Amino acid sequence: MTAPVARIEDRLYQNRYVVDAGRPHIKVRPHQFPSTNLLALTRICPAKCYEVNENGQVEVTADGCMECGTCRVLCEANGDIEWSYPRGGFGVLFKFG
Ligand code: SF4
Repeated sequence: MTAPVARIEDRLYQNRYVVDAGRPHIKVRPHQFPSTNLLALTRICPAKCYEVNENGQVEVTADGCMECGTCRVLCEANGDIEWSYPRGGFGVLFKFG
């Protein structure tokens, strides 16, 4: 007998997120053309917080961010993004640790 397979999306759905309205903890630096690293965030963010808008610029919607730090490692040092933890009481609530 094989164990049931849990999909990542199903596990992520179990998390809860408390939005700090008007105070996003991640900001993308204004740009005309995104850097290669910034564009990569649209593919590697596990919560799919980054997307390309109709003008070809990368935007972030921090709601749902799991605070994994991937985007911070890739894009904070070069100034593409500003990253901080959400204020206390806000952000992700992990149901499974
Ligand atoms: Fe996505 Fe992780 Fe960055 Fe949050 S910290 S926006 S989950 S890559």
